[in-house]
Amino acid sequence: MQLHNLSIREAHQLLITKKISSVELTQAILQRIRDVDPKVKSYVTITDDLALEQARGADERIRKGENITPLTGIPFSMKDCISTRDVRTTCSSKILENYIPQYNAIVTNRLADAGAVLVGKTNMDEFGMGSSCENSAFFPTSNPWDLTRVPGGSSGGTAAAVAANLCTFGIGEDTGGSVRMPAGFCNITGLKPTYGRVPRYGLIALVSSFDCIGPMTRDVADCAQVLQVIAGQDAHDSTSLLDAIPDYSESLGKSVKGLRLGIPKEYFIAGMEAGVERAIREAIRIFEELGMEIHEVSLPHTKYGLPVYYLILFAEASANLARFDGTRFGLSANDGIASPLGIENIVDIYLKTRHDGFGDEVKRRIMLGAYTLSAGYYDAYYLKAQKVRTLLRRDFETAFEKCDALIAPICPTTAFKLGEKTGDPLSMYLSDIYVAATNPAGVPSLTIPCGFSNDMPVGMQLIGKHLDEQTLFQIGHAYQQVTDWHKQLPPL
Ligand code: GLN
Repeated sequence: MQLHNLSIREAHQLLITKKISSVELTQAILQRIRDVDPKVKSYVTITDDLALEQARGADERIRKGENITPLTGIPFSMKDCISTRDVRTTCSSKILENYIPQYNAIVTNRLADAGAVLVGKTNMDEFGMGSSCENSAFFPTSNPWDLTRVPGGSSGGTAAAVAANLCTFGIGEDTGGSVRMPAGFCNITGLKPTYGRVPRYGLIALVSSFDCIGPMTRDVADCAQVLQVIAGQDAHDSTSLLDAIPDYSESLGKSVKGLRLGIPKEYFIAGMEAGVERAIREAIRIFEELGMEIHEVSLPHTKYGLPVYYLILFAEASANLARFDGTRFGLSANDGIASPLGIENIVDIYLKTRHDGFGDEVKRRIMLGAYTLSAGYYDAYYLKAQKVRTLLRRDFETAFEKCDALIAPICPTTAFKLGEKTGDPLSMYLSDIYVAATNPAGVPSLTIPCGFSNDMPVGMQLIGKHLDEQTLFQIGHAYQQVTDWHKQLPPL
């Protein structure tokens, strides 16, 4: 038995029957990180001391039989945009390279209360801007299936860490595909929950009206367990939803017979890699075999999804990133300037800090956002995009009158080569074509491995109604009972 390969449920069984301890499990994962991560480079910070302390605490809880949850003693990794008290939280940006938060995100607290063990913070595209993890200011992460390829972005570090068994589960963040695209590229399961299902307090904001924290796991059943712990309203985030949290494990194992699966015709278009389309079509056939009704549906405004997503992103991101100015968080050019308190020099501090601290992609988006929000262009771009956003949301509402979930690809291709798109931001944006519309609409979407094309993993997404993660888990779990794509491991 290899401890680093275990799912959450397998590890939990061994822990509560005292066949292994959390300290043993955590040490096995830390050893695996030392052996394998120099190749994959998924971690920005490894928290070994904290992990072993949390593991000892978990073992104590298990020994006393007190307060045991399905995540007690289970090692996990977390995307480096989620605040961890006393642990560096960088967003993979130079501007936050040495930033140590004084407080935990709600999600960090919930996982700690459940007894989960944080082994490290994972690499990402700077501030979540990117689809390949190459926009990290520190180093790119590799895809464990082929080290010359990208893991997808922006939660690429978390996806690679889960796929390479460098943690038992991971926590990512999805503003426009950042959980789902790397999950698909790395052959793991990932959920972008309904907007507001998981509190954002302590998540360093990219786009406040899109951002969602979500689980990245070995399979759907594990995903349900993690969502159970992190979901639910919190007073620190007024956009977090009050709705009751169902028992997600209840939907696992239920038959999908008679459930209606929609195929949005706008998502199956020319330009998709043949092997990707073949894998999704085969998944649809399996769902039909499982007794689901298949319907073609239309999401007529799909072609506006990507422009709407990027316009709103530029606008909100430029506003959110205004707080990084050298006077509050992280890097400050203050030291290098002759009379830092001179009022005329405060502008120099802003300019120099932001010049030195932000990478090219971040600067590009801030400039585009400032442009779209400026007087004269606001109505033409930002306001228009918000109106079309409503149309995108209505497309989904109409489709869900006829079906219980939709199936779609994640990306037109499998993982591309490192460096292939870095010189061409527009082609990088285009790889988000299938994932970008769900965030403006706020609906949940679950990525599941569904095959391989040219030896690289293919993922599909199941898109659900607002707050209907259960149905996605039900369908995804049924699929994973009759397929074993999710069990394939990279050749590391
Ligand atoms: N590819 C998306 C972007 O570059 C990913 C954003 C995200 O989900 N954090 O904006």
